Amino acid sequence: MLSFTYNGQPARVIFGSGTLAQLPSEVERLGLNKVLVLATPPQEEDAKRLAQLIGDRCAGIFAGAVMHTPVSVTETALQIVKDKDIDGLIAVGGGSTTGLAKALALRTDLPQIVAPTTYAGSEMTPILGETKDGNKVTQSSPKILPEVVIYDVDLTMTLPAAMSGTSGMNAIAHAVEALYAKEANPIVTMMALEAIGALYEALPIIADDPGNRDARAKALYGAWLCGICLGSVGMSLHHKLCHTIGGTFDLPHAETHTIILPHALAYNAPAIPNVMKTLSQRLNTDDPARALFDLAGRIGAKRALRDLGMLESGIETVTDRALTNPYWNPQPLERAPLHGLISRAYAGDAPRVSGA
Ligand code: NAD
Repeated sequence: MLSFTYNGQPARVIFGSGTLAQLPSEVERLGLNKVLVLATPPQEEDAKRLAQLIGDRCAGIFAGAVMHTPVSVTETALQIVKDKDIDGLIAVGGGSTTGLAKALALRTDLPQIVAPTTYAGSEMTPILGETKDGNKVTQSSPKILPEVVIYDVDLTMTLPAAMSGTSGMNAIAHAVEALYAKEANPIVTMMALEAIGALYEALPIIADDPGNRDARAKALYGAWLCGICLGSVGMSLHHKLCHTIGGTFDLPHAETHTIILPHALAYNAPAIPNVMKTLSQRLNTDDPARALFDLAGRIGAKRALRDLGMLESGIETVTDRALTNPYWNPQPLERAPLHGLISRAYAGDAPRVSGA
């Protein structure tokens, strides 16, 4: 008997090319008059362009967002929000900029409009991970979820090929883990499979031809759906490992996801035969974990944690930490196979299904 709970996350989504032209009407629709535009330092020009679009309704630009949402940066931006009596936030950028908007919204409940420029998917989730004194604390609140998301494919055209590949793999990881989540349900599964298929097809094309607009649109569409997956159900071993590795060794977010994903899927394979069958059909392969490993190679991504700078001694540390406060996972966590998984990811070896 079919039985499930589906938690929809309310957000207005505008998707297409040239959609940023709708920014002024979206700002007006929300009744905003003193907006702060957020970006990372390299994307300040994008922020200026958006500010120009909304003219008098822009009260300032803060182009100081950085990776992993440090509380110190949020506090600096919060002071600007107070000083300028800001009534709304616009974020243009990847997960780092969206993270800053979310951190400000959590503290002020200001409405957010996000214009994503990567495939991270943070804009579709009510989740915020902040760092303070080297510790990352993740929390969820309806205040964190952005009200409006404007996906404009044009904004993603400048995302470098290498970053596009790993950002896309990061997105695929959200959808793959949604397929075997504890809260998995047919609606999220439908979106996850559509998303994985879209990105699986688009990423190799983007790797060869970053200016291919159709592939860019397909990837952004897939990334949007992956973001919904991430915001709708809990994540498992893959995300636990990436948070542990990223947090412990300060490794880059999307690159770490790219390396771990095939191995985490292989680890879980024995516990999720139906998911593996569906994935095999969608990816037209008899080994989905291997197909994702090959995809990482195809897009020119690094496939070994040691190439990201992790030391061999880190294998033990990650194994220990992954076994501490583990997330729910379909396959029981056991030290020896987990150690094997991390060792293979460290060395850049192909994924191996447990017991195979
Ligand atoms: P990012 O936002 O850090 O961007 C990486 C770099 O690429 C930055 O320098 C940025 O300015 C630049 N960049 C982004 N888009 C560009 C474009 N189109 N053209 C040229 N340069 C561009 O990277 P990310 O992977 O999008 O985000 C990673 C962060 O997001 C991490 O902190 C991660 O924890 C967080 N995240 C959070 C969630 C969530 O739901 N809370 C989900 C996914 C990621």
